[in-house]
Amino acid sequence: MDNNRLGFADVRTAAAGRWETIHRALGVSIPNTTKHTACPGCGGKDRFRLDKDYQQSGRWICGGGGDFQQGDGFALLAHVQGWTLAESLRAVADHLGLTHASDFERQQIKRKAAEQSAKLEAAARAKEEQARTDSNLLAMLENLIDSIKHRQHLQRAVNGVVTVSPTTGEIEAAQELNAAILENYAGKQGVDYDRAA
Ligand SMILES: [Zn+2]
Repeated sequence: MDNNRLGFADVRTAAAGRWETIHRALGVSIPNTTKHTACPGCGGKDRFRLDKDYQQSGRWICGGGGDFQQGDGFALLAHVQGWTLAESLRAVADHLGLTHASDFERQQIKRKAAEQSAKLEAAARAKEEQARTDSNLLAMLENLIDSIKHRQHLQRAVNGVVTVSPTTGEIEAAQELNAAILENYAGKQGVDYDRAA
């Protein structure tokens, strides 16, 4: 196997930030807007739209007259020109002069692509870690509320009344913490303060 053969990830890295030029050079009439327009592939009136980061990613969506499609810059060539994805890859690589790139240049491109995917993986890991932290914070907060409730319960059992209520500071701090967590970690049930107090 030829380790220096460039794949989608490599060519995508080399094409990032250059998709409009690439598409135009390969015969796609790219609209000058990211608003809805006719599709350069299947026509219509307003079924097609470039993503906001199109120049970087090549991404687009097309309503296709009911046959919804979307994809990256290679997929757009397939949609418009009727090429296979392999043919689209080859055309982009040709256009960027990568087909005849030296081994050294190919290695450079591969290294850059590997760095980029490592960066994306690190970002995904950080996001997971954040979700775990949020979840832990929420559990800590629930423990705090539980211990306040427990304290009140004991006071009631011993004295018949609650002698030490949670302080305003305690409640406010807990509420602030809860709101901050929920903002970051939507979808989880918050703590019911009326019941806790
Ligand atoms: Zn279309």
